[in-house]
Amino acid sequence: MRAAVLREAGRLAVEEVPRPEPEPGELLLRVRDCGICGSDLHAAHTLPPGTVMGHEFAGEVAALGSGVSGWDVGEPVVALPYMACGSCAACVAGDGIRCTTIRSLGLGDLPGAYAEYVRVHPESCLRIPDGIGFRAAALVEPLAVALHGVRMAPVAAGTGCLVMGAGPIGLTTLLWCRAMGAVTVVSDPAEGRAALARRLGATATADPAREHPGSRLQSLTGRDPEVVFECVGIRGTLNDALAQAGIRGTVVVLGVCFGADEIVPGLAVMKELVVRFALAYTKDDFAAALAALQERRLDVDALVTDVVTVEDAPQAFEALMRPTTQGKVLIEF
Ligand SMILES: [Zn+2]
Ligand SMILES: [Zn+2]
Repeated sequence: MRAAVLREAGRLAVEEVPRPEPEPGELLLRVRDCGICGSDLHAAHTLPPGTVMGHEFAGEVAALGSGVSGWDVGEPVVALPYMACGSCAACVAGDGIRCTTIRSLGLGDLPGAYAEYVRVHPESCLRIPDGIGFRAAALVEPLAVALHGVRMAPVAAGTGCLVMGAGPIGLTTLLWCRAMGAVTVVSDPAEGRAALARRLGATATADPAREHPGSRLQSLTGRDPEVVFECVGIRGTLNDALAQAGIRGTVVVLGVCFGADEIVPGLAVMKELVVRFALAYTKDDFAAALAALQERRLDVDALVTDVVTVEDAPQAFEALMRPTTQGKVLIEF
C-alpha cells in the first residue's frame, strides 16, 4: 500500500509499504480521509524516520481480526486514534486516553493513517451515521478536541466568547460556540485566517496586534468576555487570556505550550477566574461531534481548504510548516 512516511526531520516521502494485517482483536480500516494536524508538524521533528503519522481519519472497515464481531466489512467508521485495553476503569468510562496501556496511533507508538490502511481497536471505533461524508468525518477528531474544551466552560446562547487563534482548533472551537448560540470574537493576526473565521460564523474578528480583542467583544455584548479559549499555545498567550477574561470568567487552555511561561496570578485572583486545561477527548466527545454533524448543527465545509492525494501529501505537509492561511488540509485516498 502507499503511505506518506516520515523520511527525515520535517519531511515526508511517499513509499510502498506492506499492507498491515489486523492482529487478533483489531479491525483494519481502509482510510478515506486523514487530516494533517499541527501536532504532526511538530512531531515530524522528533519522531524517528519510518514513522507513519495521521490521527484524524475516517475510513471503512476492510478486515476483522480474529475474535472481533459486530462490525461489517465496508462499514464507515471514525476511530479515536489509540489502542487502549477497553476493559480498565478509564476505558469503561470512555476515557481511554487515561488507559495505562494506551498506544497512540500516528504519533509514534503504532502506524497512523497517512496510509491506505490502518489498524485500529474496535473499542475506539464509532460508526459514521448516514449523511456524513468521509471528509466531514475526518474532522471529528479536531471537533472533539474543541468540544472537550467547550464543555469545560459555561457556553450558552448569548455568552460572550473570545477565541484566541484561528488555527484548526480555534476554528473548531468557534464552530461549537456558534452552534451553542454564543457571541464569538476570534482573534488572529493573520487576515487570511481571520477571514476564514468570519466565513465559519464568527460574530467578529480582531487583530490582537492592532486592537484589544476583549474590547471588541465588549462593544458587542456590553460585557467583558465570559469565556476565553486560548488556542495558540505560545509564550505570553495564557497571560493574555487571563488579562482579557471578565470577572468570574472562565479561561480554557487548548493551546499547548511546552516551554516555561510567565503569568501574573494576581490578574486571575482579582477577577476570580476559573482556568481549565483541556487535553484530547472522551469517546462521548467523538459521539457528540458525529451527532452534531448528522443534525447539521455544525457547518464544517469551509473548514477544509485543501484536499490532496497521498502523492501530494509531502509537499502539502511542508507548505503547512510555513506561515499559512489554510484551514484543515486533508489527505484523501
Ligand atoms: Zn490532531
Ligand atoms: Zn484501558
